[in-house]
Amino acid sequence: MSATTIAAIRATPVTVPLEAPLLHSNGAHWGRFVRTIVEVETADGYVGLGEMGGGGEDATRAFANLLAYLRGHDVFSLEKMRFAICNPTASLYNNRTQLHAALEFACLDIIGQKLGVPVHALLGGKVRDRVEFASYLFFRYADPASCEGEVRTPGQLVAHAAALKAKHGFTAHKLKGGVYPPQHELACYRALAQSLPGERFRYDPNSALCLADAIAFGKAILDIRNDYFEDPVWGMSQLKRLKDFVPLPIATNTVVVNFEQLAENVRNGAVDVILLDTTFWGGIRPCVKAAGVCETMGLGVAVHSSGELGIQLATMLHMGSVVPNLGYAADAHYHHLVDDVIAGGPLRYEGGAIRVPDTPGLGVALDRDKLARYHELFREVGGYPYDRDPGRPGWYPLVPNERWADPGASLTPALR
Ligand SMILES: [Mg+2]
Repeated sequence: MSATTIAAIRATPVTVPLEAPLLHSNGAHWGRFVRTIVEVETADGYVGLGEMGGGGEDATRAFANLLAYLRGHDVFSLEKMRFAICNPTASLYNNRTQLHAALEFACLDIIGQKLGVPVHALLGGKVRDRVEFASYLFFRYADPASCEGEVRTPGQLVAHAAALKAKHGFTAHKLKGGVYPPQHELACYRALAQSLPGERFRYDPNSALCLADAIAFGKAILDIRNDYFEDPVWGMSQLKRLKDFVPLPIATNTVVVNFEQLAENVRNGAVDVILLDTTFWGGIRPCVKAAGVCETMGLGVAVHSSGELGIQLATMLHMGSVVPNLGYAADAHYHHLVDDVIAGGPLRYEGGAIRVPDTPGLGVALDRDKLARYHELFREVGGYPYDRDPGRPGWYPLVPNERWADPGASLTPALR
C-alpha cells in the first residue's frame, strides 16, 4: 500500500443557527455555533473531515499554520502526528490539543475510507449499535426574530423538556445551570424531575457554586434519580471535600481533561465519572485510552459535548460505540441546532439514541451547498464571545459566582 500523505489542509469557519441563545455560567452561545470545518486532503486524493469549536471564534489561521508541520505526513502515523505538533513541553507555549483532535478525526476518516471500514472498527470495534443521549436542557433567551424559545421558569423548563422528549425520545435529562440563583435552579430541577417520573437526571452548574450552596443543593436532590452531580464546585480538592457531605457520584468535564489530571484524580478519588470530550482530550483515541484507565480504576465514563455539528457528533458516536464502560447517556448540544453541514441533513435521534455510522471512515460527508451557505453566514455575522452574556453587558462571573442573573427578568437581547 502506498503512503497516504497529507497534501493540503483546508479550514472553513461556519455559523449555524441555534433555536435560541443558550445560557451557561460563563456567558452564552449567542443564538449560533461557530465551528471550523477541517478537510485534510492526501496526495492520493482522499479527503478526511474534522471539526473544531473555539468559544465562538474562527480557528482557520491556526490550521493553516500547521500545514508546514504536516505536509507529507502519513495519515496512518497517528502517534507520530501527536509528537510532531503536541510535544508536551512545547505545548506550554503552543497548546494544540484541540487542533490535534480535528486533525486526528480527519486522519481516522481517511484511514477508514482507504481500508473500507468504519472508524469504530479501527478503535477495537463497536460494542453497541446506538449511543443514547440526554436531553441537555439549557436556560435560554427567546430568539430575537421569533420571540420564542425562552426557558427561565420551572414551567418553561418542564414544557421544553416535554417537547424535546416528544420529538427525540430522551429518557435522561441534563439541566445546565450556573445562571440563576441556586434556589431558583433547584426549583427548576425538582420540577423537571417531578414532570418525568422514573427517568434519569443530572445537574451541571459549570463549577459556579460555593461549597455551602453545592452541599445544600446536593442534599435537596437526593430523592431524585440522579446519574451524577456534575462540576458543582470548582477544582478537584473542593469536589473531594463535597463528597464528605453529599452522597452523590461526582462528574467532571472541567478538571479532568488530560492524562496528568486523570492520574491525580485516581490518586485522590475526587471525581467518580469522567466526561470524555473528543476535542478537549485531543482526539477519539485519547478518549478511548482514558476510558481504559477509567475501566481499570473503577471510574465511570460518559460522553461530553463541547458543542458540535455532525462531524464532531460522528466522533462522539464512534467513541461511544467502542467504550464498553460507557455507563450513561451521552451529552449533545446537537438538537438545539436548526441545521447541519453534513449531507442528508442532521443525524436523527430515534428513541433518544443515534445510530452509529457503519459506512467507511467517520460515515459523514459534507453538503457543499450548506457549507457555503453557513460560511457566508459566518462572514455576515462573525463570531461571538462565548464568555459574555448578551443580556448582561459588562458582566462576568467570579468562581464561586455571586452575580447571578435575575430569574424575574424576561430579556430578549440583540445578538450581534
Ligand atoms: Mg459540564
